[in-house]
Amino acid sequence: MISLKDKIEQVKENIAEACNKSKRDMAEITTVVVTKTTTVENIIEAIKLGCTDFGENRVQQLKEVAEQIDKIVSNQMLLSGKTQNINWHLIGHLQRNKVKQVLPIVKMIQSVDTLRLAEEISQQSKKAGITTKILLQVNCSGEPQKFGIPVGAATHLAEQFSTMPNIELAGIMTMAPLTKDENIIRRCFVRAREIFEDIKNERFASKEFHHISMGMSNDYKIAVEEGATILRIGSAIFA
Ligand SMILES: *Cc1c(COP(=O)(O)O)cnc(C)c1O
Repeated sequence: MISLKDKIEQVKENIAEACNKSKRDMAEITTVVVTKTTTVENIIEAIKLGCTDFGENRVQQLKEVAEQIDKIVSNQMLLSGKTQNINWHLIGHLQRNKVKQVLPIVKMIQSVDTLRLAEEISQQSKKAGITTKILLQVNCSGEPQKFGIPVGAATHLAEQFSTMPNIELAGIMTMAPLTKDENIIRRCFVRAREIFEDIKNERFASKEFHHISMGMSNDYKIAVEEGATILRIGSAIFA
């Protein structure tokens, strides 16, 4: 069995290699470790190995796991006197009636793909006196069963998001289709990059608009080559 440490190191090496190949600076890439299939013990080990950003795709699981991790980390901070910052990302579909529950937990909601959801996040954030970072989820693969706004409607929706007071549109998120065909995957990421640039060049885009969240265990190297700033990696680390 390969240790968690070795798997994390392998992922880092692969990212470094892809950065080299595409002349990118590794420092501009955040790896969100996706914890939906693993245990609290493994997450704690990942934290000890230096991981800081974690992602869940379901609200209930996010709440439960984040609460347990928070307790353990707080205790350890008390003992060691060192502070440790853990950032949680919601990466899966969010229903409006669950927005209120996730706001106190997350650093970023990566899966915002409708006006009504963004409105609810803005309203609930206002009540809580906070601004919430979100990503616009774009369906770059064109698969009808996927969440995400269709490519052709993305810029308009981003503009609408930009008028809402208590959300900060920090970039876009996308998922490649499930295929082994690298060309199809790459085309999807190139598409996402183009949409990102389109929105970034609009007058309404804020300074904080600088993220492209794309790339999972099977395709993160391609994603790095095509400009990802956030990777979401689960099974390559925990499986
Ligand atoms: C599960 C999940 C991931 C991670 O997938 P792996 O293939 O395990 O790396 C990334 N993004 C989203 C939205 C997910 O649900």
